[in-house]
Amino acid sequence: MTIISDNLQAVKSRLALAAASAGRPCEDILLLAVSKTWPAQSVREANAAGQIAFGESYLQEALDKIAALQDLHLEWHFIGPIQSNKTRPIAAHFDWVHSVDRLKVAERLSEARPTELPPLNVTLQVNISRETTKSGALPEEVTALAQAVQLLPRLKLRGLMAIPKASEDYAEQRAQFRMLKVLMSELNEIGLKMDTLSMGMSHDMEAAIVEGATIVRVGSAIFGTREKY
Ligand SMILES: *Cc1c(COP(=O)(O)O)cnc(C)c1O
Repeated sequence: MTIISDNLQAVKSRLALAAASAGRPCEDILLLAVSKTWPAQSVREANAAGQIAFGESYLQEALDKIAALQDLHLEWHFIGPIQSNKTRPIAAHFDWVHSVDRLKVAERLSEARPTELPPLNVTLQVNISRETTKSGALPEEVTALAQAVQLLPRLKLRGLMAIPKASEDYAEQRAQFRMLKVLMSELNEIGLKMDTLSMGMSHDMEAAIVEGATIVRVGSAIFGTREKY
């Protein structure tokens, strides 16, 4: 067994424990392995251990990896900041985009989504802790954004995503994730049909799962500590 497969097993156990403590079936929670900064070979190892969904934040690095791994049947999620002049390769090479935070980017992704592919799954990134340095739409902007994105023909609006302010405090982590859950229920009450909460990373996945996460994005707990970038 490799370290990556050991780590994956450990993360899956954490996921299962948190799901059980919340009374949720663990099949309702997708483990997204965040492979940014790690080579294609690490993705291969994770895939050999059964992992299918991978998340990337840096476009060029991701495109190189996707090309190098074409022999595998993987699901690719783009989770990084999006420059609006880079929407075409994102729309062509990914199955999901988690970081949509403005209409212009959504419109360009929809226009660029190749017709032979199914609609691109998207979540709207929300700046839940209102940090000025963070990307994401502010909570009060999300209703209008969701209503507009829902109408775009080549996108499928699936839900919301957040990267809350890092906290060691479990109660505080839960309070942040709960805000995202409440926001999605409010939007569904006014007619949107979203089913995805992308929230929780290596250090706070338990709190996210207890608050209803349906995708947890886990990097360092699977692949190891990243160099800075
Ligand atoms: C890097 C990253 C992750 C994974 O973070 P870890 O702390 O390594 O689990 C999750 N989500 C986003 C958006 C990221 O950029």
